[in-house]
Amino acid sequence: MSEPTAATGIDFIAPLTGVLVPIEQVPDPVFAQKMMGEGFSIDPLAGQLVSPLAGEVVDLQQSGHAVTIRSTEGLEVLMHIGLDTVGLQGQGFTPLVEHGAQVTAGQPLIDFELDFLATRAKSLLTQIVIVNSDLLSSLTPESGLVTAGQDVAARAELKSSTHHDAAAGSTAAGVAAGAGAGAAAGAAAGTPWGEGADSQDAAQGGATTATAEVLIPNPTGMHARPAANLVNVAKEFDSEIQLDKEDESGSAKSIVSILAMALAYGDKMTITATGSDAQEAVDALVQAIKDGLGEEVGTMPSGTADTVATPAVAETAGLKAPEEEVSHEPKSGDPNILLGVTASPGLGIGHVVQMRQAEIEVQETAADPTQERAALDSAIQSSIGELGELEQRLTNEGSADKAEIFRAHQEILRDPELVNNAQKSIDSGKSAAFAWRESYTGFASQLEGLDNEVLAGRAADMRDVGQRVLATLTGQHQEKAELSEGTILIAEDLTPSDTAQLDRSKVVGFATTQGGASSHVAIIARSMDIPAVAGIENRALQISEGSRVVLDGTAGKLQLNLSDDEISGIQDRQRRIAERKAVEDAAKDEPAVTTDGHQVAVVANIGSAADAREAVAHGAEGVGLLRSEFVFMERPTAPTEQEQADVYAECSRALKPGQPLVLRALDVGGDKPLSYLPIPKEENPFLGIRGVRVGLEQPDVLRTQLRAIFAAADAGAELHVMFPMIATIQDWRAAKAIFDEEKAASGITTTVSCGIMMEVPSVAVMAQQFAAEEGCDFFSVGTNDLTSYTLAMDRGHPKLAAQVDPCNPAVLTLIGQAAAALHAQGKWLGVCGGVASDPQAVPILVGLGVDELSCSIPAVASVKAAVRANSLEHCKDLAAKAVTCSTPEEVRSLVPVDEY
Ligand code: PEP
Ligand code: MG
Repeated sequence: MSEPTAATGIDFIAPLTGVLVPIEQVPDPVFAQKMMGEGFSIDPLAGQLVSPLAGEVVDLQQSGHAVTIRSTEGLEVLMHIGLDTVGLQGQGFTPLVEHGAQVTAGQPLIDFELDFLATRAKSLLTQIVIVNSDLLSSLTPESGLVTAGQDVAARAELKSSTHHDAAAGSTAAGVAAGAGAGAAAGAAAGTPWGEGADSQDAAQGGATTATAEVLIPNPTGMHARPAANLVNVAKEFDSEIQLDKEDESGSAKSIVSILAMALAYGDKMTITATGSDAQEAVDALVQAIKDGLGEEVGTMPSGTADTVATPAVAETAGLKAPEEEVSHEPKSGDPNILLGVTASPGLGIGHVVQMRQAEIEVQETAADPTQERAALDSAIQSSIGELGELEQRLTNEGSADKAEIFRAHQEILRDPELVNNAQKSIDSGKSAAFAWRESYTGFASQLEGLDNEVLAGRAADMRDVGQRVLATLTGQHQEKAELSEGTILIAEDLTPSDTAQLDRSKVVGFATTQGGASSHVAIIARSMDIPAVAGIENRALQISEGSRVVLDGTAGKLQLNLSDDEISGIQDRQRRIAERKAVEDAAKDEPAVTTDGHQVAVVANIGSAADAREAVAHGAEGVGLLRSEFVFMERPTAPTEQEQADVYAECSRALKPGQPLVLRALDVGGDKPLSYLPIPKEENPFLGIRGVRVGLEQPDVLRTQLRAIFAAADAGAELHVMFPMIATIQDWRAAKAIFDEEKAASGITTTVSCGIMMEVPSVAVMAQQFAAEEGCDFFSVGTNDLTSYTLAMDRGHPKLAAQVDPCNPAVLTLIGQAAAALHAQGKWLGVCGGVASDPQAVPILVGLGVDELSCSIPAVASVKAAVRANSLEHCKDLAAKAVTCSTPEEVRSLVPVDEY
């Protein structure tokens, strides 16, 4: 390597129109903690991502939500649209470039539907990360609003020496090129982190090689978050570590090469490490992958967790001898488990019916073009008529989303291109049926060839509607088999029309070897509540008719050869859960009273007026936490006082008169950034300006919100305001003084009580002193933060989050002691953190003295049932035992879980 000389400057053109946000404020530790590298974030105002630099597309994620450009200077720039958008599986994204394309700065890369993502994604914040940022000596993002393709969003200084090496195509570039031998050679030659020479020396110095095979357990495959965590584990070792999947290879230390391998759920990957710590590296990686790399994962089928057993040929009972073209190697490693992707969640137990589309025979030529044109026209018109009737029927049945699909089918038939192509062919002597089939299959293949899952889904619509016309033209309509109850359909593909007309009382699930989660078939299945798996292994087509199977739509798998005991165990469990749910739902509007007469308020956590309405419909007795920051999020500017007052009043009106509505004052900072409310960059944002501290630093924001709350005081519900992140008596007094001033100025006479969110251990420990404060009416425990601060573990940390269990005896002790101190002074205590929705924890919380449980909306009925199932005396006994336990596991073992 040459000695560094003068640094080289690079401008990153804004890849989006939007507001620049420091990457540290992104509510995802993978980005905020720069696990992937330096970067910046943009809160987008428009739905097109353009390239910030000239370069080559070295990775385009299949789901279209992320793309990596290798700039001409050798920088690898990953752009990740939104947070947790991989789960959308392509919906809302339209890539405009292909892998390997050369792009100019400002060239459009991906179109995305802003409104669609705004309602589906955790956040729209889009991250621009330089994954080989060790090539940079500095990166300085701008701030404020930027326009895509025009403004400079950030300036970087490149280390001159690495610039030379990178441009020469070393390390990362070689690995990132992706598949095949070239990539493998790149991986072996070095890593993108400049450790190549050392590692290679080690390898040549007689170092060992270790290898293992693993199955990818992450439901959405190896996308940015798990890939970043994998790289971080790999980087702890000196060994060279190569990953292989069939003919794809990459370095475990290069995020770009991992992304380029497009590892999907259930894929088998080989890890090969060479170096002095090869075995330790492989063991650590296998373990980290098994643990989910920071994501929640299910257990992979037995025998596959860390090493894959040689797959057995699936000729066990229930499978016919496989035909040649049908792959019979189980993806799961278990011949009795067939994997696909979730198309519609739920569990179906039934017998297999194989469904095949019969080929429609057509004559190629015809004598009279005029007659053929007329025949085609009449078949198209009659199909449009049928589709219109279907649309109308579905609309009348209240299935507007399904009806919409068939309206779109009518539009396809009105497409002039489709009809013109067929007519031209007729004029050259072809029959109407032949010409029509050529035309629609040609269009469908074009769509499929675009390598875009969403457009491929539209190809299925094209074939469906084309087939409908073809059947009419030829008079060869498909015979519909009579289905019996408990049918699980298996097919290469189902058409949207077939799916919409499935009889829900007979079909308990289906699996198709084609299609994906975003196809119309999947959308229809979800709206009909039919469990479905798409993209299932081809060997599903060989399952014998009538075989008994379990289709798990949620896990995306089909299970064969279950014993009678296993089936009846699953059926019993399904029945018990359904029965219990029905009993709980029937009593959802009854109060939650223990068997010895102690009543606990069960209310809900909400973020909007729509939630408030839903909460009441689910039996909530009010709202224990309105996370008012939702009113402020996903918008470019702060809501006005009037806008806020309208939302608060609407929430209030959604409740029954006199029910409580506990409004939490704006809780931003830490993991909840607001682009238009800048909070200076901090070393430890969770210990910095967050919650009420933001309101005290920027009192105008707090005052405006309080005025809006007071303006809504007479809308019906009983209003309570609480301040988040109170840590000291001074915090409380300062916030309460502002509350009192604004209340007095508002002139309202209605009572609005004021309280504290107990999220910081100091408040729990000093509950007695806080309760003695004048005008401090109530407390609600935010166990999410209280647990995090008690254990000094970040609740979002990929490695620690699993330990942040509110059933930790330390947390329960704090709650119990606080409850006793508050009750002694006539103050009430609620719990609004996630543990209030955990029926297993409910009796313990009640025993600790909690007066109000504020839970997630779907949990209301079961939380009420959990209160009713116990006596207060028993709850107290459990609580007394819980606080003497040593671990959360011991605490949980006190309350048997009956399939919660
Ligand atoms: C909590 O901390 O438990 C809580 C309810 O607040 P949030 O999850 O919104 O931080
Ligand atoms: Mg909190």
